[in-house]
Amino acid sequence: MGLRPNLLTRRTAGVATSTLALLLSTAAVGVVPAASAFSAAPAGVCAEPADANADARVAKGGQAKLDPNHLTAKQVRDREADLAAAQRERANFRTGAVAPLATVTIPVVVHVIQENSTRAGGNIPDSLITQQISVLNQAYAGSTGGAPTAFSFQLSKINRVTNASWYPIVQGSSAERSMKTSLRTGGKNTLNMYLGELSDGLLGWATFPKRTLDKMDGVVVLNESLPGGTATNYNQGDTGTHEIGHWLNLYHTFQGGCSGSGDSVSDTPAEASPAYQCPTGRDTCSATGKDPITNFMDYTYDSCMYQFTAGQASRMLTAWNAYRAA
Ligand SMILES: [Zn+2]
Repeated sequence: MGLRPNLLTRRTAGVATSTLALLLSTAAVGVVPAASAFSAAPAGVCAEPADANADARVAKGGQAKLDPNHLTAKQVRDREADLAAAQRERANFRTGAVAPLATVTIPVVVHVIQENSTRAGGNIPDSLITQQISVLNQAYAGSTGGAPTAFSFQLSKINRVTNASWYPIVQGSSAERSMKTSLRTGGKNTLNMYLGELSDGLLGWATFPKRTLDKMDGVVVLNESLPGGTATNYNQGDTGTHEIGHWLNLYHTFQGGCSGSGDSVSDTPAEASPAYQCPTGRDTCSATGKDPITNFMDYTYDSCMYQFTAGQASRMLTAWNAYRAA
């Protein structure tokens, strides 16, 4: 039920039969048992993230277990310690302190990965991409109902690449590494966005910022999740908004569940687990506040999510100045 029917149909071509069966059998649950599609991944590729530098968004019925950014408590602690270290580095007057920015325009390079020249083969029109940039600018300006952030986005290039061996884009695969190593351009401030059909029912995934430039840096987004695409309930462009939130150092609102510092943002109420669809009034933790189901960093339908908080805006700008500013 949860998996988008059009994707199920098309995915039969690109994914092993056993994987498809697994997706179907668990479609109503949203969480997958031990066996995973990564049994089909090339040898040497880790099923779980080797580090905490990637994150994903999963549709209802998709394999949440494969979301590489369900971080462990230790991974969060390590990332927070790294952020503090990066901030100290930037503030070090002996090595030349970097003046913090208050507003940021992010150049965006969009790589459209195609299997062939058909729409089903990944050939989405430029209009979807320009609409995606517009959705990002609205979301990050706060004009959809949330807090304004420091960020705006400027499309600098659309790079169309036909390469069947990179299609669909398989999270964590050697093909993903090869694709990014070949295509990534710009410095740490350049957002590289890879669009295509994706493995494992994922809507997208992203890397968190690092102190050094990494060729894997960027966001991967389901092509048909762009505004006007065919991904029912997930076709208003908010997968892009969500993944870029990770790229700017945000965790999921349900990170850490009800305990501890959760998502390391103080104005997003704690949430025990991902929310799907649009469960108005959901309240899974005893701490104050209902679940932040309308937040871009949850898993709800695009029609349900429309905001970042002031705390998230602040966290993103802090991380930008620590990691991505020149
Ligand atoms: Zn995510």
